[in-house]
Amino acid sequence: LDPLIFPSTRTSFTADPDTYIYMNFMKSHSCYDAMPRSSKLVIFDTTLQVKKAFFALVANGVRAAPLWDSKLQCFVGMLTITDFINILHRYYKSPLVQIYELEEHKIETWREIYLEYSVNRLISIKPASSLFDAIYSLLKNKIHRLPVIDPASGNVLHILTHKRILKFLHIFGSMIPKPRFLQKQINEVPIGTFREIATIQESASVYEALAIFVERRVSALPVVNEQGKVVALYSRFDVINLAAQKNYNNLNMTMKEALTSRSCWVEGVLKCYPHETLETIIDRIAKAEVHRLVLVDREDVVRGIVSLSDILQALILTPAGIDALYS
Ligand code: ADP
Ligand code: ADP
Ligand code: AMP
Repeated sequence: LDPLIFPSTRTSFTADPDTYIYMNFMKSHSCYDAMPRSSKLVIFDTTLQVKKAFFALVANGVRAAPLWDSKLQCFVGMLTITDFINILHRYYKSPLVQIYELEEHKIETWREIYLEYSVNRLISIKPASSLFDAIYSLLKNKIHRLPVIDPASGNVLHILTHKRILKFLHIFGSMIPKPRFLQKQINEVPIGTFREIATIQESASVYEALAIFVERRVSALPVVNEQGKVVALYSRFDVINLAAQKNYNNLNMTMKEALTSRSCWVEGVLKCYPHETLETIIDRIAKAEVHRLVLVDREDVVRGIVSLSDILQALILTPAGIDALYS
């Protein structure tokens, strides 16, 4: 994109009072306020086999689970689809060789190996903490699941996500004055990533997609055809289909095959265009309940990603002078 149209600096708003509306909203509401009255929560003991745990995520229709260590009698971490991706990427050899580590390892065995290189404690939040603190924690720690733990009982009450927080803002934000900056076009504000977008060709293998997830740490890949036009979206969430269909032993299959065999997915690609306003984009992302929109030009060529992380950074943290996402 033209760098004159998409400023490279991430500092966005000036001292207009509208700037602080959403930041103050998040500071004055607690995690408890954004929690549903009831929701399904699945917890895994760390002695469970990893393969069974991923099957259990599928069977229960959940995306992540807190991990309970019965020896320590506390929660020690999370198991997410990213862990499934990391295991497959690390141990996959060929369609002819079973992934021994996936078949045999317990969650605790996997964690001993993996935690050398990553977060090795549970990042959680109290129900009374503000949504501002929850957003800061999600973005700073570059995670997508934040368990809300009751300090009195030690129980996990809910797992907060960017989606849930944006939905809360979308519903209750209508009761507060609408900031004027929502009328700005996305090409006027630096909200999103506009260069070095990680994409994948539809003819590439699933293994190649997993490698990009691991190396670039992005949450989704626009799938492009030979002309560079976006034809689909493959997110980390879609990788769980490999567990659902038990075809994780064949990562040589093409993206095209993997996309058509998904059991549950969003029809088409949810996109946005440079001239669209922030308000339109937030409405679309909240209504579709997806984590990002793909920014495209008139020819459908990928020009950027506008993720919930970018929106929460710009609307809530940047006004507080905090750069948690890009630092
Ligand atoms: P996904 O987007 O696939 O749900 P995340 O981005 O949340 O996954 O997870 C990235 C990594 O961080 C994974 O290894 C996951 O186990 C770990 N993780 C996620 N949430 C937490 C948390 N609240 N505390 C500690 N580790 C976490
Ligand atoms: P999560 O709730 O784990 O953050 P995602 O929003 O990444 O999950 O993905 C949920 C489903 O929505 C996946 O099947 C994914 O392919 C689809 N999806 C997400 N974003 C888009 C998009 N911009 N266009 C089309 N499908 C999308
Ligand atoms: P997310 O992981 O979607 O919460 O986003 C974290 C950061 O990565 C945000 O700044 C996104 O704009 C950026 N991002 C997400 N997907 C991609 C991608 N495919 N290529 C480049 N950047 C991305």
